[in-house]
Amino acid sequence: MRFEEFSTKFVQQVGKKEGAISPVMINSASFGYGDSETGEGIFDGSVKKPLYSRMGNPTSAQLEQILAQMDGGIGCVVASSGMGATAMATLSLLKSGDEIISVGGLFGGTYAYFSETLARFGISTRFFDVDELDAIEEAVTDKTKIIFLESVGNPNMRLPDIRALADIANKSGVVLMVDNTITPLSIAPIALGADIVVYSTTKVIVGNASSLGGAVVFRAISEGEDKFKAQRYAEVHPFIKKMGPMALIANAKKRALRDFGMSANGFGSYLTLLGLETLPLRMDRIVDSVEKVARSLDAAGFKINHPCLNSHPHHERYLNQFSQGCGTLLTIDMGSKEAAFAFLNGSKLMTITANIGDSRTLGLHMESTIYRDFDGPTKEFLGITPGLIRISIGLENPEHIIQDFIAAGGL
Ligand SMILES: *Cc1c(COP(=O)(O)O)cnc(C)c1O
Repeated sequence: MRFEEFSTKFVQQVGKKEGAISPVMINSASFGYGDSETGEGIFDGSVKKPLYSRMGNPTSAQLEQILAQMDGGIGCVVASSGMGATAMATLSLLKSGDEIISVGGLFGGTYAYFSETLARFGISTRFFDVDELDAIEEAVTDKTKIIFLESVGNPNMRLPDIRALADIANKSGVVLMVDNTITPLSIAPIALGADIVVYSTTKVIVGNASSLGGAVVFRAISEGEDKFKAQRYAEVHPFIKKMGPMALIANAKKRALRDFGMSANGFGSYLTLLGLETLPLRMDRIVDSVEKVARSLDAAGFKINHPCLNSHPHHERYLNQFSQGCGTLLTIDMGSKEAAFAFLNGSKLMTITANIGDSRTLGLHMESTIYRDFDGPTKEFLGITPGLIRISIGLENPEHIIQDFIAAGGL
C-alpha cells in the first residue's frame, strides 16, 4: 500500500530532527553569492547554491525532492499553479507545427489551453476517449510530441488503461505525460511507463485550499537507448549531452521556467509541504468514503457516476488497476439544471466551489460554470449534461454526507 509507505516517508521528510521542526520557509526572491567567483560557479552549474527564486527556491527544493521520490522520478520542478505546471511541461518540449494527442476526460483549463491558446501558436491537438487505443496509435505522426492523459476523467469519471497507453507511447517513440492531480499516491504513472507527471498541488496534495501550486515530475534519461535521443526531440539533445539523466529538468528550467516564469514561491511551497504531510491519511480515508457515498446514494436512487459501481463501464478496470481508488470525485446527474441547483442549495454540508480535493466536501454544477463557454459537441465529448454536478468528497463522516445528500435531493 503506497498510502502506508508514504505515511512514514512524508512526515519524516517534511520535518527535521534538529532545530526548527516545521519546514524552513525561505521567501527571498534573490540570493547573495558572496563573491564573483561563486556567482560564476552558480551560473555555470558547478556551485550548487540558489541563484534567483524564478530558477529555484530552497523551500520549493525540499518539496521537489519529496514529490520526485513519491513518483520515482529523477527530479521535480514546482510551479505557481497546476496550469503553470502543465504549461511548463508542455512548452519545454513543443515548437510551432508540433502536435499533441490528448486522451481522456479533460480539465476545462487544459482543454482551453490545448484547443485555443496553443492553437494560436501553431500547435494542434486531437482529442480521444480513453478506449480509442487503435485511433490513438494511428494518430501519431512525425510531429507528435506529447500524448497527454488525465489519470481519471474529470468530470466524466472514465478510467484509462495507463499501461496500454504507455505501451503505445513507447512503441511510437512519443512522450506520455500524465496529469495525476486527482490520484497522487493511488497511481504511480512513471512506474506504469509514463515519462512526465503533472500535478495541480492546489487540490488534494495541499488539501485545504491554502495555496495554489503545481508540480512536474520527470523520469531520468537512460544511459542507453531512450526515445528522447531520437530526432523527434532534437531540441532536448544539448541538455542530454550536458546533463545526462537530469536533462529534462534542465530543459524545463531553461526553456520554460526561466523564460515564462511560472515559478512557485517559498511561502506556497511551505504550505504545500504542510499539506503533503497528511496526504496519505487523507487519501486513505477519502477513497473509502467516496465508495461508501457512491454506493449508498446509488441505492437511494441517485444517478451516480463512479467506477466502484457495477454499472460503470470501467468497473473491471477499477478493480484490477485502481486498487487504491481513483481519487476524491464522483458525479451526480440530477436530470436538469433546476434540480441540480436545488440539490446544491439544499445541502447544508457542501461548499459550492470550483475546487476539488479539499478536507471539506465540495460540489459544483458543471454546465453553468467551468464548461459554460464550450459548444454542444465538446460538452458531449467531455460528458457534460444539463443536470451534472461534480462532487469532491471530504473528510467528514461519510454517514453525515449521505444523510445530508439524501435530504437535499428530496429522496
Ligand atoms: C485544477 C486542475 C488543474 C489546474 O490546476 P490549478 O492549480 O488550478 O492551476 C489541472 N488539472 C486538473 C486535473 C485539475 O483538477
